[in-house]
Amino acid sequence: MGPIITLAMQKGGVGKTTTALSLGVALAARGRRVLLIDIDPQANLTQGLGVDPSQLEYSVYEVLLNPERGSAFATITTDDGVDLIPSSLLLAGAELELAGRVGRELLLRKALRAARDTYDYILIDPPPSLGLFSLNALAAAQRVLVPLQLHAYALKAMPQLEQTIDLVREINPELAIGGVLCTLADRRTNLSHEIERQVRERYGALVFQTVIPMNVKLAEAPTAGVPIHRYAPGSAGAQAYSALADELELRLNHQR
Ligand code: ATP
Ligand code: MG
Repeated sequence: MGPIITLAMQKGGVGKTTTALSLGVALAARGRRVLLIDIDPQANLTQGLGVDPSQLEYSVYEVLLNPERGSAFATITTDDGVDLIPSSLLLAGAELELAGRVGRELLLRKALRAARDTYDYILIDPPPSLGLFSLNALAAAQRVLVPLQLHAYALKAMPQLEQTIDLVREINPELAIGGVLCTLADRRTNLSHEIERQVRERYGALVFQTVIPMNVKLAEAPTAGVPIHRYAPGSAGAQAYSALADELELRLNHQR
């Protein structure tokens, strides 16, 4: 039974989707059974795997509306070794549709009960806001993976995230930060190094040794609709996410 890991719902394009996708594909390349869940109406993860969110029979929308059906009926396989529960355009309306439902934060958790036995890793990509979808992700997960872009305000959103995690623990006591990942690092600037130092000082061993560099191939891959490991396997971005996959595996094996 593998961990359910959600990306933290940080604002502003810090690399959540890129991390969920690239890390997931790297873990699958190591023989792990990986399920990716796109619970963001933007559907960037879905499109990043070349799946058209307007052409789907089922998506995470139907999963949230019918959690007692489980999640397998909406899960699709991909050419990249990962399974995907895609997002769809319908998801945007689900927040309103579910507004009156009791236990609406626990829908994804309920739907994933059986999937936990099927996968070594389940990675959830939430939208960049604290709403019903992010709450469902936090309520379903054991670990939060926090990508931090190495710029001046990198640590600014952390107190609010920590508060949110504390609150969600009331319905999901095992939830904890599982790792902090420095992303979009520009190794040429002093600022990038200085912020990295601050992040490591504050979060210590939680911070992955692996740092994801700013890499143009990572920015191009979504437009092509293929993950970085297929788009540019030799790129610095692909190598960094492979190193992250190794580090995560080591870390979790130590914890088991
Ligand atoms: P959102 O908050 O909109 O969900 P996000 O946190 O999911 O955004 P991404 O979509 O992963 O962020 O990344 C934002 C943009 O930056 C995308 O265009 C992506 O291709 C690009 N990007 C992500 N990581 C890198 C990187 N290491 N180097 C270069 N470009 C990157
Ligand atoms: Mg995203």
